[in-house]
Amino acid sequence: SLSERLNDTFDRLRGKGRLTEADIVSAMRDIRMALLEADVNFKVVRDFVAKTKERCSTSEVMDSLTPAQNVVKIVLDELTELLGSTESKLVLGNRIPNVIMLVGLQGSGKTTAAVKLAYLLKKQGRSPILAAADVYRPAAADQLSALGSEIEVPVFRGDGADPIEIARGSIREAVDTMRDVVIVDTAGRLQIDEQMMQEAVDIKRAVKPDQILMVVDAMTGQDIVNVVSTFAERTDFDGVIISKLDGDARGGGALSIRAVTGKPIKFVSMGEKPDSLEVFYPDRMAKRILGMGDVVGIIEKAQEMADVEQVEAAERMLREGFTMNDMLDQMRSLKKMGGMKSILGMLPGGQRALNQMGGNLDERVFDRNEAMIMSMTAQERLNPKIVNGQRRARIARGSGVQPSDVNSLMKQWGEMNKMMGKMRSMTNQMGGGKRGK
Ligand code: GDP
Ligand code: MG
Repeated sequence: SLSERLNDTFDRLRGKGRLTEADIVSAMRDIRMALLEADVNFKVVRDFVAKTKERCSTSEVMDSLTPAQNVVKIVLDELTELLGSTESKLVLGNRIPNVIMLVGLQGSGKTTAAVKLAYLLKKQGRSPILAAADVYRPAAADQLSALGSEIEVPVFRGDGADPIEIARGSIREAVDTMRDVVIVDTAGRLQIDEQMMQEAVDIKRAVKPDQILMVVDAMTGQDIVNVVSTFAERTDFDGVIISKLDGDARGGGALSIRAVTGKPIKFVSMGEKPDSLEVFYPDRMAKRILGMGDVVGIIEKAQEMADVEQVEAAERMLREGFTMNDMLDQMRSLKKMGGMKSILGMLPGGQRALNQMGGNLDERVFDRNEAMIMSMTAQERLNPKIVNGQRRARIARGSGVQPSDVNSLMKQWGEMNKMMGKMRSMTNQMGGGKRGK
């Protein structure tokens, strides 16, 4: 993956100590290849690499005590910049009802995004209504109605009417039923075609949306630039929702969007459930791409669970290191937090670890691990390094597992401990203050 490639590049740099011009050239070549293979638009790659290289080649970087770290920091900065620097919130206007229109190709995830957006707005105290203006796909209105009723948001279907009439009708309906936001779900085609573009333009003219959001599938490769540019020309839009970022999309297309259109990415959609729409933060995304782990995301996720202890534990681990007790707590709360995968994916190197395990995490392993940790002494839990071969055998007997299970637990702890160490040094580096010049 892109993260793995970039991480390998950084690891090579870190292994060097002092850097020469040739090291930079070769690192930039690696980065260029990695980005191109991830489907980032070639012009975007060219500019990105040129800018990054220029910043890395200064004597300030080359002669510093930690040149590799400086290079990583510069790549992170530039990647964040490429993704839009700062978050771009969805701002609703004062008009009642406010109208949001979604555009994009068929299958890009418009209908799913419409529902998620409705759900998000509802949680913020709004009362949205969904308009089913896709009249071509036979079951489109049914799909929207079913999803709408799941989240208890009404859907205006206007059966039999044309899309423009449905969009207009939905606004009247909103006024009649005291709804303050209308989300218009439109039809798409598999490819750009004139009829689709014209229809989008006509709906836009008819309802004068306050916001037009374009939905883009993260798995779209190079072609994304054409699609997005065409929509930008014909209907214009205010921002982008990137869908299906939970899949194994290379996501490179998404990296090009901001640079090519100048339009901000506002949300990312990370699954099929209504609550999986997230505000897009360029810096967090850049860190994720660089495999630096989404520390803030993890802490937020913990906060969502209103579990203050979690946050404190995470902060303490960053400060003091990772013990078996932490591992036990982590495993227990991971179970609670619903799935190891999403959390592991946020940890530095976590995605890689997941892939190595074949992406299949058997959560029953948790229970075995728990039994093994329970069989350790307090000393061993605090400092697992002291667990020798004899003790491993004893722990295996004590918890009814094979010695190889104990070995893999120890290995797992070792990996986690290493990750925590990496994360710690990164938070120190990124956290400002110590960014020595
Ligand atoms: P539309 O044609 O643009 O309205 O696209 P849909 O909303 O109908 O989505 C097409 C398919 O992609 C459906 O099977 C959705 O369940 C799926 N989908 C949409 N968004 C996501 C997402 O964020 N993650 C995943 N995994 N699937 C998604
Ligand atoms: Mg649809």
